[in-house]
Amino acid sequence: MTDYSILPALVDERLSGGRVRIDLDALKSNWKKLAGMTPTSKTAAVVKADGYGLGVEQVVSALTEAGCETFFVALPEEGVRVKKQAPSAQVFVLEGLFKNAVATYAEADLTPVLGSIENIELWASFWHERGSRRPCAIHVDTGMNRLGLRVEEAKEFVLDDSRRNSVTPILVMSHPACSDELNHPKNAEQVAAFNEVRSLFPGVDASFANSAGIIGHKDFIFDLSRPGIALYGGEAIENFANPMKPVVTLEGRIIQIRRASAGETIGYAATHTFTRETKIALVAVGYADGYLRSNSGFDMRTKGTAPAKGPVGYLCGREVPIIGRVSMDITALDVTDIPEQELEKAEWVELFGNNIALDDAARAAGTIGYELLTGLGARYSRTYISSDKRD
Ligand SMILES: *Cc1c(COP(=O)(O)O)cnc(C)c1O
Repeated sequence: MTDYSILPALVDERLSGGRVRIDLDALKSNWKKLAGMTPTSKTAAVVKADGYGLGVEQVVSALTEAGCETFFVALPEEGVRVKKQAPSAQVFVLEGLFKNAVATYAEADLTPVLGSIENIELWASFWHERGSRRPCAIHVDTGMNRLGLRVEEAKEFVLDDSRRNSVTPILVMSHPACSDELNHPKNAEQVAAFNEVRSLFPGVDASFANSAGIIGHKDFIFDLSRPGIALYGGEAIENFANPMKPVVTLEGRIIQIRRASAGETIGYAATHTFTRETKIALVAVGYADGYLRSNSGFDMRTKGTAPAKGPVGYLCGREVPIIGRVSMDITALDVTDIPEQELEKAEWVELFGNNIALDDAARAAGTIGYELLTGLGARYSRTYISSDKRD
């Protein structure tokens, strides 16, 4: 059950320019589906960045009900929030130990993912001084050059008994760089390196797979998998049918329908010139809400090739193109083809959700679903849908 006492106040839908619907039943069903795809591996959930923008308390609460007991966050601040919501869960902090915050990891019972010798020494000495020990995870970099010991460093570390025995790792992990491309040669290289690393830590659980790993790479599956984006309905692998249920719907409020004549322009920089008598829907969502400016309609002045499918909204059963520039608080759509009687009743335009896939909306803006979700603005009202009536 979500602990609402620790949540920021939700925005009243009557006062908001956009509304987000978050289907917690779909989220739970996606977690169970991913867990079912890898029955020999335990399935965690990555809930960094406020649960990919959906609200970490609600996400953790729903996933706990679905059976998830292990969470990954990026930052200690996020870990503290997850622990408040799910006190008995194991919470790993991917970005390791922050120097002046070690006591907070201890108090909140967070498990740091140690990705450098300095981090390992910091954790070891903190507990040595207290005559105690706590588990940690060890991150090894197998080819991404982000966080993690180099493979040679990991080997040196395990050969040095006093260092190896100074900490109690319960997980050894690495992260794939190219899992969203099924045939990228780096995938096999990294798995080979990870198999070597894993053998240095006998008896310690191993973890390599993210969402794409679970869905598309059998050889990425070890003891624990770490899905993120697929839980939230996003596409994990490019050009691969998305097997997940959509979780998030974003709709913008229509604040005005106006008419313009052929030859007039719309919006900043007058990038779009009307070629016919046009009905325009003005929607109260803009780049200040994370609805990216790159969602602007094709700029006719650049005279380049229009993208195959530009940014669109969905209204009264059809797609309606975004026209002109997305501004801070307003986005315009061409709704000329919607019959007048239907348009009169319309109040909200879908920007992504059940009719426009999150990742199609992202592609139209030149980005990925992850960025649209984690950028969902603070001005939206939010509704959480759950068949669980106990709340
Ligand atoms: C974000 C992240 C994940 C989750 O990745 P998805 O592609 O969202 O499934 C897993 N592991 C690490 C280390 C991450 O940073």
